[in-house]
Amino acid sequence: MSRLPHIPPMTIAYLDDMDMCLSISCVRCGRMKYLDKALYRPEDVVPEIAKRYRLTCSFCGSPTVLTWPMQ
Ligand SMILES: [Zn+2]
Repeated sequence: MSRLPHIPPMTIAYLDDMDMCLSISCVRCGRMKYLDKALYRPEDVVPEIAKRYRLTCSFCGSPTVLTWPMQ
């Protein structure tokens, strides 16, 4: 029996609801920038976007990037 509350998946639609932005950060060079949420589908799960769309760092070209919600 779990007493954990239901946590909705962190999707693009959820970000829209919460009026939050989508950001990408690079593990290699540490740079961060905002992404346009309109480029992704509402059901896309935020932490999976980097892999799903094979995103790379626009500064150093590294494929080791992470997508995050950002206020
Ligand atoms: Zn980089």
